[in-house]
Amino acid sequence: MKTFYAEEQRRHDPKGFLSSGAPQPNPEKPVRIDRLLAGARAAGCSIHHPSDHGLAPIAAVHSPEYLEFLQNIHRRWQLIPGASHEVIPNIHPINRSGSYPASAVGQAGYHMADTSCPISAETFESACWSAWSAVEAAATVMSGEPAAYALCRPPGHHAFADVAGGFCFINNSAVAAQTLRKHADRVAILDVDLHHGNGTQGIFYGRADVLTVSIHADPVRFYPFFWGYADERGEGAGLGYNYNLPLARKSGDDIFLEALDSACRRIEAFAPQALVVALGLDAFEGDPFGGLSVSTAGFAKIAERIAALRLPSVIVQEGGYLCDALSDNLTSFLTGFGSMR
Ligand SMILES: [Zn+2]
Repeated sequence: MKTFYAEEQRRHDPKGFLSSGAPQPNPEKPVRIDRLLAGARAAGCSIHHPSDHGLAPIAAVHSPEYLEFLQNIHRRWQLIPGASHEVIPNIHPINRSGSYPASAVGQAGYHMADTSCPISAETFESACWSAWSAVEAAATVMSGEPAAYALCRPPGHHAFADVAGGFCFINNSAVAAQTLRKHADRVAILDVDLHHGNGTQGIFYGRADVLTVSIHADPVRFYPFFWGYADERGEGAGLGYNYNLPLARKSGDDIFLEALDSACRRIEAFAPQALVVALGLDAFEGDPFGGLSVSTAGFAKIAERIAALRLPSVIVQEGGYLCDALSDNLTSFLTGFGSMR
């Protein structure tokens, strides 16, 4: 399977974030890339550098106001006397029906959901290359390859059309799905990350042409808290085209696979022409986030069930944090996926 990745994705190197109010090192580190590259190579993947696809495929799912913010906010932030090196918000609108402020501090609060996505001088460039890896993987699948893997880092599924959050800036899975829409009338996104894909859900919530399905730890006591419940089913034309499967904390392979079966049946009923797999590996039993208990062998079984859908598939990397098995978990998934082809 072809893997897409650009060295420029490494430049974003966030230093910290707040966890339960306490400053902690940011776990979304560039070294994740080395582990994931090793995992992809061990699965027999060839690594390819994507082309620069410009802003068009990104602007297809993100607002112009937000992209202008991402591009310029770090430079503007440095003009504030005493400001932090990285852009980190400290005030948020209670709801977003108020006015749009001209202030850099106000805009940071408007466009950033939490403290986990600090913006440095390199962030926008890295996030664009991450998205272009997804675009290139989608183009590869549209040209006839059965599947491709986009090593997207920084990740994307917590980014809404105009809000960053949860280590995410540009929603790579949404960019891939929208790119696939050029050739496919209906596209499904299946998100198997530990955390609910709230940004992806938000982007497509009112649409019937992109089905969004997410299996994740129950948000009642877990990030992203405000989204990911079973009664979120879409709205307007999109009603019935969003399907959430929250799982009890520490659920293991059997429960995950049971939910996956339900997710796959929903996807089959939608009859899409292409699939995006938002592949988080943080549902792993040894992941530092500790939310679910999927095993390394479990990732192969998950991949086999998804590959049995027999859909042209773009696999987009989401979460999965530093632990001994990070490489092996990716190898397990990609090998399991390939074994069904
Ligand atoms: Zn996650």
